[in-house]
Amino acid sequence: MERFVTHELGDHDGGRISPVASVTTLDIHVRAHVLVLYTGGTVGMMPGENGYDIRADCFEPFVRSIPLFHDKLLDVSADTESYSHLGLPEPLALPCTGSGQRRIVYTIKEYSPLLDSSNMDMDDWVLITQDIKHYYQHFDGFVILHGTDTMAYTASALSFMLENLGKTVILTGSQIPISETRSDGIDNFLGALMIAGTYPIPEVTLYFHGKLLRGNRAAKCSSDALAAFNSMNIQPLALAGVRIVVEWDLIHRPTTTAKFDVHTKLEPRVGVLRLFPGIASETVRQFLAPPLRGCVLQTYGVGNAPSNREDILKALHEATERDVLIVNCTQCVHGGVVDSYAVGKTLVKAGLISGSDMTLEAALTKLAYVLGKQALSHQERRKLMHDNLRGELTVNLGQLALDDSQFILKVAQVIGVSTGQELKKVGSALFPSLLLAAARSGDIRLMKELFRQGADANTSDADLRSPLHVACAEGHTDMVRYLLERGASVYARDRFGRMPLQDAIWGKHADVVQLLRKTGAHLQLGTAELAHELTAAVFSEHSVSSLEMWCLAGADFNVSDHFGMSPLHTCVMKKDAAAVAYLLSLRVDTQMKNEWGNRPLDEAKRLDCTEIAKLLEEYQES
Ligand code: ASP
Repeated sequence: MERFVTHELGDHDGGRISPVASVTTLDIHVRAHVLVLYTGGTVGMMPGENGYDIRADCFEPFVRSIPLFHDKLLDVSADTESYSHLGLPEPLALPCTGSGQRRIVYTIKEYSPLLDSSNMDMDDWVLITQDIKHYYQHFDGFVILHGTDTMAYTASALSFMLENLGKTVILTGSQIPISETRSDGIDNFLGALMIAGTYPIPEVTLYFHGKLLRGNRAAKCSSDALAAFNSMNIQPLALAGVRIVVEWDLIHRPTTTAKFDVHTKLEPRVGVLRLFPGIASETVRQFLAPPLRGCVLQTYGVGNAPSNREDILKALHEATERDVLIVNCTQCVHGGVVDSYAVGKTLVKAGLISGSDMTLEAALTKLAYVLGKQALSHQERRKLMHDNLRGELTVNLGQLALDDSQFILKVAQVIGVSTGQELKKVGSALFPSLLLAAARSGDIRLMKELFRQGADANTSDADLRSPLHVACAEGHTDMVRYLLERGASVYARDRFGRMPLQDAIWGKHADVVQLLRKTGAHLQLGTAELAHELTAAVFSEHSVSSLEMWCLAGADFNVSDHFGMSPLHTCVMKKDAAAVAYLLSLRVDTQMKNEWGNRPLDEAKRLDCTEIAKLLEEYQES
């Protein structure tokens, strides 16, 4: 499009464009069209009798009067006509901002009523998505002017509701009304318009104070700083310094060929529960009671909850049994949930889903979105919560393999192999780590897929750990059963001679121990070796439950180590009366003598352990 235009520069140009007062130029710029949805918030407030208030029909005329926002000499008659066909107000045009920039033509659709964002709810998110859908074909990008208070919630919700998004959607607003001389709204709005009209970033983003953040990673972190938003677990997608620099590698893109659409059904019966030391189990139970269908549980550190609070764990378990989706998110502003801590693992056992490093806003709106998908089964919803849908969470590497059953094929494509034989080689190089990753997460679907692609159940890694070792250590009973059915050997030994049964024992997974025993697994340990294992069990944190596992696995407790110490001797030396009582209940031999000729009772007397000595004497008399 070529056309002569005149720029008239006024007071508000801020030195951003040529200081020449009036200049005739050839407009050779391609036009980009941006739709602005003005929903309310501080950004559009005007001074009134009682301070600032949100007034209808004031924002657009105000913006139109500022040359920075509108080049009134650009001929927009053709755009005016096409916008009016769409039922949209007359366009505005940003002035030229330098060579290579596109001419950004935009129009502002004002919502009625304009809202303080604290008054917005899920229906308002639906209205926004419907507008984007309605005008999708006609615009290159969308800017949503929004109050800052709940902007991160809206950004997160929209990121899920706008499915297979291919265009740029940016939320922005300001801490100071744009009508003020010193307002952050000017830069925020201008920056958002320029990015939306220039860069095809197919994400819902949030632009504030020179940073373009992924919407579902952003959180309001200050009520008064102009840098009010941050995304703690991912760097900004773009930074507006002297130049606008987009981090293209970070941009999340839909990977399907499906068309853009919006999902407008959301489940409002979701909530957030924050743990604190001493929280009453009634509070937890009441909170999780029907009609609640989804909950973000804010836990400590890397996703920990008190493992000594059976009452709370029970309340959580009861809720997940009723198919309430509970997502474990950290209370920390930076970092996320990892499943490696024992206390965190108890939450996995209670049926919680790891929220990885999702923000509270992302986790909550994702729950509303996923629960709103009525055609999905409970398991499918759980999987979606776990998956990275719009860049809202970091998938750990194990899961990266697990989430993608075509993983090997994709890797092969990336490194450019072409023949079936080459593909097979790639597969065998990758199978050990993929099989172990599938076993670690208990993903039977992927395990099946790996077998389908030629993997063998008895493949092991460099330490000779097989998928069965790993599944037993993690306590994934169904996976263990599946592997056994696929021919995994219960007698496989790793580099340290350890068999899967020992992994199950040390993981204290009673179901797995029983299943292995049923399949014929037994302890193949020499006497001294078994005695050492039992000594370690006695010295572990919960000696009785550790010994119980060994008992379940069929261990003989009448064994002794190189010093003639039987497990009973060791319990006495440790002064562990509970463990002594447990071993006595198994009717172990109390007359074994150690290297120094002492029976357990002799040692108890020597150590002045009257309680234990009494237990042993009573037992011997009975
Ligand atoms: N209360 C306002 C809102 O969220 C604050 C703002 O816009 O900055 O709508």
